[in-house]
Amino acid sequence: MDLDERARTPTARCDLLLTEGTVLTVVGERPTIDRGFVAITGDRIVAVGSHEDGSLPAADRTISCRGRVVMPGLVDCHNHMFQSLGRTLGEGLTGWEWLSRFMWPYAAQITHEETMAAVYLGAVEAVLAGTTCVLDHHYGRTDEATTLAVAAALEEVGLRGKVARGIAGPYTDLARHQGLPESAFRIPADEELAITEMCMRARPKGSKVEIWPGPINAVYTDQDLLAASVELARSHGVGWHTHCSAPRGDPEAYRDAYGMRPATWLHSQGLLGPDTVLAHTTWLDEAEIEAIGSTRTAVAHCPLSNQYVPYGVMPLRELLDAGATIGLGSDGSACGHRQDLFENMKLLVLMHRLHHLDPKASSGPQAFEIATKGGAAVHGIDAGALVPGALADVIVIDTTRPHLVPWHQASSGIVYSARGSDVEVNIVGGEIVVEDGRCTRVDQDEVVDEARRRAGELMDRVGLRDLAAPRLARSRQGSECSDR
Ligand SMILES: [Zn+2]
Repeated sequence: MDLDERARTPTARCDLLLTEGTVLTVVGERPTIDRGFVAITGDRIVAVGSHEDGSLPAADRTISCRGRVVMPGLVDCHNHMFQSLGRTLGEGLTGWEWLSRFMWPYAAQITHEETMAAVYLGAVEAVLAGTTCVLDHHYGRTDEATTLAVAAALEEVGLRGKVARGIAGPYTDLARHQGLPESAFRIPADEELAITEMCMRARPKGSKVEIWPGPINAVYTDQDLLAASVELARSHGVGWHTHCSAPRGDPEAYRDAYGMRPATWLHSQGLLGPDTVLAHTTWLDEAEIEAIGSTRTAVAHCPLSNQYVPYGVMPLRELLDAGATIGLGSDGSACGHRQDLFENMKLLVLMHRLHHLDPKASSGPQAFEIATKGGAAVHGIDAGALVPGALADVIVIDTTRPHLVPWHQASSGIVYSARGSDVEVNIVGGEIVVEDGRCTRVDQDEVVDEARRRAGELMDRVGLRDLAAPRLARSRQGSECSDR
């Protein structure tokens, strides 16, 4: 049965029915259904169609979506929820300064309680902004209890996804050469693998939030430990996630140390594949693009953070042409500043157009697909499209707001005009986790208060206050002006 056939299959009754909406299915001959409905039973979509096609299924609960868009939830393929308490710090730092002066001290000294305050805040932000699934690279406090609590918190707020437990291991010569603090590499390799495996056993494949190995960086994680991490993932039938070649100097520094570029080495060891999710990959040569594409390796594209730091422009078109699976990543609130994949979709389009000076270099429909179907493929879940049988990860957007009128072209409206705060309803696995723009499963006001309090304590203890001072930017005339 093809997708269109499945979309027309009648169903007599359902748990939850979304009616009267403009339904963006993202599939088949009917990517958009005007005055459509979506029927949900349990955690799955059971019917999608038009009111014009005939009678609706009976439902335990019906939500009218008149004046609304009903679309797949957005999928985040690279995040760091624990960084949420550092929002707005580090203005104007270079990539390595940002890591060594800000993020490494922050990650090394954050407590369990501060981690949880940060993760709840990030998760609440994410569901309110229409994210339904997240891959969280967690390298702050990575003891077993905290890692499992992070996964539990994401699930409690209502998200599905994965926590990739950050694995640092031994202090490599390259990490020393690059100026990373030795204090960040404090857990021996054996212990890193043992803690990760305990967490994986507690949240195995099929859990709503799984635990994956997350070697911190393909460039400065010890090669043996990285290979052992991938082996661990494969022995449990799950994926693994790491950063790769974000700053321009990383591939060359890696080649100086090991004799080849990082993605080439991963390929030479059989470590690439559909179970591999690489974040950033901004600096790749042709052989690396071919290796990533031919192995159907997944890539988390982070257009906002790549511009903020700034790292550079990922070769999107080349990677897609080579066969890579691409999803979108918000990269956490310390450099993304918001959990908002709408913003990232728009920035994806704009950065590639500017880079190539070509309006055809990227498009709204392409960004929309990457944020939905692409992300679901990266996560290996049956989501990202509104079709019977798929997971019921669905969001509803109010399109009566002034900045969303008129609405001539659906995916352009979503990518260029909508923002996370336009999301009224967020449904994950058939459960409503946001309704009327408020979290249903946790007290979001309490989460915000706790985060505000913990953030102040963290800044004082770690000594981050100076990073909040206004930094000087050089004006066009060469004089210096204050950045407010
Ligand atoms: Zn990252």
